[in-house]
Amino acid sequence: TDLIIWKMQRKMKKLNNLGKGMVIVISGPSGVGKGTLIERLLKEDNNCVFSISATTRKPRPGEEHGVNYYYIKKEEFEENIRNGKMLEYTLYNGNYYGTLLTATEAVTEQGKDLVLDIEVEGAGNVKRKIPEALTIFIMPPAEEELLRRLKKRGSETEEEIAARLATAKREMALAKNYDYIVVNDDCDRAVNELKEIIMAEREKRRK
Ligand code: 5GP
Repeated sequence: TDLIIWKMQRKMKKLNNLGKGMVIVISGPSGVGKGTLIERLLKEDNNCVFSISATTRKPRPGEEHGVNYYYIKKEEFEENIRNGKMLEYTLYNGNYYGTLLTATEAVTEQGKDLVLDIEVEGAGNVKRKIPEALTIFIMPPAEEELLRRLKKRGSETEEEIAARLATAKREMALAKNYDYIVVNDDCDRAVNELKEIIMAEREKRRK
């Protein structure tokens, strides 16, 4: 009977998720070109919608309220937390950043895939709350090259190698928690890989 119950539950879950969009989490260290990749992805895949986070940091030149972020006061952000309005949030460089629940559900209910550009801690929290979320880590190509070089042992001092290895290991350790790692060695290639991963996952979930 356990098997029958399990099969029924699985079927119910499938029916529930039918036609529902995916939650796609994209993370990566700063300076990796993640912003450009996401911009291209949104332009080239019309089923993807950007998740506009709330933040307490000031807008940078060229950024717009309701486009890049919802720029809100610290008090308002903390009220949102208290009222259970956040799917996840974090403190990063002294500012709050977080994903609003309302926006998330509205998008996926329409069958659209929601793209979250969030850091590693937030990504972990999303994955815990939404296990079926698709998580992708954008890796700088230097990281790979670094590992290769470290193995070969070049002209660098022991300390330099150790420091580099430590940084690389920290990054890699976080990256391995993600479903996919995309190396941003070339923008066109990386965008295509992103699109292929998303298409394959859509196909997988339809079955
Ligand atoms: P920036 O200030 O450069 O726009 O973003 C700083 C970091 O915060 C980036 O790594 C970005 O991915 C992350 N971030 C942006 N929005 C959110 C969010 O809603 N939640 C979390 N956890 N991180 C976010």
